[in-house]
Amino acid sequence: MKHMLIGCLCLFATAWAQAADPAISLVVVGDLDPAMAERVRAFAQENLALPVRLLEPREAAAASSLNEIGDAAAEAMGPEDTCLVVLAVPTEDLPNHGVRLQEKNSAVVNARLLKPAGGDEEQYGRRLDREVMMSIGLLMGLETCPNPQCAMWLYSNDEELDMKGRNYCPPCLERIQKLAVERGLKIVADSPFAPIPDEPVPEEAASEPAAPEQAAPAEAGEPEPIAETP
Ligand SMILES: [Zn+2]
Repeated sequence: MKHMLIGCLCLFATAWAQAADPAISLVVVGDLDPAMAERVRAFAQENLALPVRLLEPREAAAASSLNEIGDAAAEAMGPEDTCLVVLAVPTEDLPNHGVRLQEKNSAVVNARLLKPAGGDEEQYGRRLDREVMMSIGLLMGLETCPNPQCAMWLYSNDEELDMKGRNYCPPCLERIQKLAVERGLKIVADSPFAPIPDEPVPEEAASEPAAPEQAAPAEAGEPEPIAETP
């Protein structure tokens, strides 16, 4: 009996410790295939090298705006959710591909509107990847990026959405990882996008700082005498 109790306490402690690790959280609201949600989560975690988790999915209630959906979902946020991206499939057609609720530290992606007309699942997944990556970037403090190969690039139509990059350019990646570590997130070390640890500085180079190059003093040239013409 005592052993069982200790066993239960250990299990509880393990579950609590896992739940308490800060992470970027995703939550599905409405009818989205769980496999699609997991695909998007795994893509974001690998490409950011930051922990991204899925919260328990929620039923879609009738809502008149994406903001309303985001406000309701953000209620369930805990202190371990660094920010929240809602993958929403509203029951009605709602405008906008997404909204950001900065004061709630959350964003809503309109998965219903992003679904391609032809029903191409891969195209659909890639669109969600891009939207989620951009939402996470904005929530973590990145700005939009001028590089169309970067997920932080601002598109203006479906065609541009389908051609832009899905992950980050190196400067955006470096910046989000720095901001995330400052906010208590741990780098996912086994991701190919994890930063390479700093190489130790060779001793010689470290002890002898290079002398700053001195500019040669400019020679004050004597003004050429003007030959007087007879
Ligand atoms: Zn970028």
